[in-house]
Amino acid sequence: MTGCIFVLIGPSGVGKTTLASLAHSDGLAERIITCTTRSVRPNESPGQDYFFFTLDEFTDRERNGEFVENEWIHGYRYGVLIRELSEVLQSGHRAVISLGYGGAERLKHLWPDQVTILGILPPSSDSLRQRLKARGTQDAEMLLRLRAIDQEFHTVQALADYMVVNDQLATAYQQLQQILSVGASSLMTNH
Ligand code: ADP
Repeated sequence: MTGCIFVLIGPSGVGKTTLASLAHSDGLAERIITCTTRSVRPNESPGQDYFFFTLDEFTDRERNGEFVENEWIHGYRYGVLIRELSEVLQSGHRAVISLGYGGAERLKHLWPDQVTILGILPPSSDSLRQRLKARGTQDAEMLLRLRAIDQEFHTVQALADYMVVNDQLATAYQQLQQILSVGASSLMTNH
């Protein structure tokens, strides 16, 4: 297996989705399609935007251990199939995916030589608070997350092979591009 997977981890609102989307739209890495139990929206194509499962199908797959990570969001299930990731590796491709800490750890355990974890952090916990406020995030869960930010920074640093500080998006994206192109290099690593 010669492919590789770059996993972006970091606190909610730090810019993981933004950075991953840039890499996908520039054709630097593949996107991994997520599974969901929510309904298909008019502008979506099954198998391209998401894999759409019934709750029973999703639960069966969960029982079979097919997901690297799955979660409930607003009453629906979302998950990433291990199969999707192993296909990338087997075909020698490169993918960028944003995952939670548990999912990132599990993937690294499955394929330690092919998985690189990139920790994305804001310049400071205050800047993350500002960004979340600007995004209009106010729910109770987010308030809890804000309180847990400092603890989360330690988790990110412990798991990550590389750290990228997302202050100016263009600079952070340049760093991501460098890491994608060289994998391991003279860039400062965490270990
Ligand atoms: P995550 O996927 O980590 O939760 P997002 O990629 O959804 O975070 O980004 C959260 C918000 O922050 C979005 O509105 C995004 O446009 C904005 N954002 C991302 N990077 C930066 C940056 N460097 N400076 C300011 N805002 C940013």
